[in-house]
Amino acid sequence: MFGVRREKDKALTREAVTEVVGETEKDVDIFGFFGKEKAYVTALCDSVSFTAEGECLTATGKGTEKDELIRRLSKTGGSGFKAANIEAHAEEGIFMPASAVNDLRRKALEGLKGEILNQNAPVSSQKIPEIKKEDLLFLPVKGDIYRVYEPENGFAVPSDAVRIDIPLWKFNENTVKRYEVSKISILLPRVITTAEEEDIKKQLEKAKKLGVKRVTVTNIGHISLCAGFAVYGDGNLNATNTHTAKIYEEMGFSGVCVSPEVTPRAVKTDIGEYPVYGRQVLMHTENCIIKNISGCVKDCKAVLTDRTSARFPVWGEYNHRNLIFNSLPTYLLDKDVIHNRLFVITDEKEIPSDKPKEFTRGYWK
Ligand SMILES: [Zn+2]
Repeated sequence: MFGVRREKDKALTREAVTEVVGETEKDVDIFGFFGKEKAYVTALCDSVSFTAEGECLTATGKGTEKDELIRRLSKTGGSGFKAANIEAHAEEGIFMPASAVNDLRRKALEGLKGEILNQNAPVSSQKIPEIKKEDLLFLPVKGDIYRVYEPENGFAVPSDAVRIDIPLWKFNENTVKRYEVSKISILLPRVITTAEEEDIKKQLEKAKKLGVKRVTVTNIGHISLCAGFAVYGDGNLNATNTHTAKIYEEMGFSGVCVSPEVTPRAVKTDIGEYPVYGRQVLMHTENCIIKNISGCVKDCKAVLTDRTSARFPVWGEYNHRNLIFNSLPTYLLDKDVIHNRLFVITDEKEIPSDKPKEFTRGYWK
């Protein structure tokens, strides 16, 4: 949490909590009809209803009183509902034992609860962004991939690199002078709101004119912005198993980064990659933390220090969102990673072949 809580915010929170508590019991209307053929009890709440059916007995003496039926139908305690309008109609000479009325009421309320849950259940709808496989280029790579977060500092990418990810917010005419344009892949921001799409499209068009053919997406929704490019999926597309990787392959991705939250062998794919070196992004923030510290005037950088004195770099991303990087780089160069190796470069002086003094193995087991 990076916000500042004022008295007014606290008061709003208290109000919200009271509202939630008060909302736990919903008003329910119950209508009972007790006829010679059948008995029906309908429970109704916010235009959702459920009707339970049962049998009635013929009275040998006096039938069941209407008031008695209403009293029984009103007992909603413990059901999550509060009795509002309760009505009952009984045909002449009908006898309903108390237990039978209770049973019908209980069934009606349980059924109603089921209906309400059904109506609020998440609907599974596969809404994959509208783009055809044919609209994408297919340019799979085999070899080492470099992600250079600060291309302006001129990190020297080894000549055998097969792809170079450059963040969109750092890409410009100079980038193509420094790096081979055929290898450049524009790394899109993690969040692109609908309002920001036009700007992103414009920047991608510009990159295309400069000869860029590749885009690395960090969110599946962004694929619709990538017509005419080869698309690579970042590790946060959650390819944690072979099935997921297959789906990306079928969609026309040229590469997919296996989730760094599993070991590389958890996912079999011909187009896989895996981060073997450098700092992972741990968090992405909507608010600019740097603004609070330095006003974003200089190079849009800050550091968060935790209670163990670990230092987490915070860097400005697209539109003043922030990326919080891990305090330690990942180092897996001495491991047998079966996919293309992804090197993440956040320091232009880094030499990935040197083992860092302190590092993390991430999720390697
Ligand atoms: Zn900022």
